[in-house]
Amino acid sequence: MSQALGEIEARIAAACARAGREPNEVTLIAVSKLQPVAAIEEVYAAGQRHFGENYAQELRDKAVALAARSDLKWHAIGRLQRNKVKYVAKVAHAFHALDSLEIAMELSSRLQRPLACFVEVNLGAEGSKGGVSSTELAAFIQSVRALPNLDLVGLMALPPMTQDPEGSRPHFQTLRKLALGLGLRGLSMGTTADFEVAIEEGATHVRVGTAIFGGRPSLQNGDWVERVKRNRSGSVS
Ligand SMILES: *Cc1c(COP(=O)(O)O)cnc(C)c1O
Repeated sequence: MSQALGEIEARIAAACARAGREPNEVTLIAVSKLQPVAAIEEVYAAGQRHFGENYAQELRDKAVALAARSDLKWHAIGRLQRNKVKYVAKVAHAFHALDSLEIAMELSSRLQRPLACFVEVNLGAEGSKGGVSSTELAAFIQSVRALPNLDLVGLMALPPMTQDPEGSRPHFQTLRKLALGLGLRGLSMGTTADFEVAIEEGATHVRVGTAIFGGRPSLQNGDWVERVKRNRSGSVS
């Protein structure tokens, strides 16, 4: 895993060089969802500090398990249900999937400090996915900006799946234009499949899981906590 991390860092640096950007303009978020705590420890030991989690309870549990590593920064990257907002409010360094005013209000009321937030945009207009549609984005942003404690830093997207990373490029370009028009600097875009293209198109945060940690178990019933309880070593199998 530490070798994989080094390779990803090198590919990020190369993509930055192609785009005339500095590598320190891009934050690598190691997406550790469904990976065991031991795997996070290994990647942390190799120098990685930003980690991404999708599920609020999993984030809560891992934050407790890794609390001693006080410079580890958690990025909550998945959609939230209202009753789980509290976990994110407590431990997250940033939230990347803001797409509902109800959640935004709940988050703002629970926070005791400003939280960096990215609004998720549903670029492909895919019904099954989260995110605010492009047409509703400006109004949504205006409402979010009125809330205390939410530090709106940018936009996030997960474009429709493609085999070819080039397939994501037009979506990344669209996200960048939307952010520019709204005066937002942050762009959370790019995964294992397409992070280099995302960097060429201006990503400030890339969210890479599989290329660092290897494959992850598929989630059944959405219940990570139950899986961990069954497996006392704390790993998810
Ligand atoms: C899982 C996930 C990622 C990472 O995907 P990989 O293909 O493993 O790199 C990035 N962003 C979001 C929102 C995710 O859910």
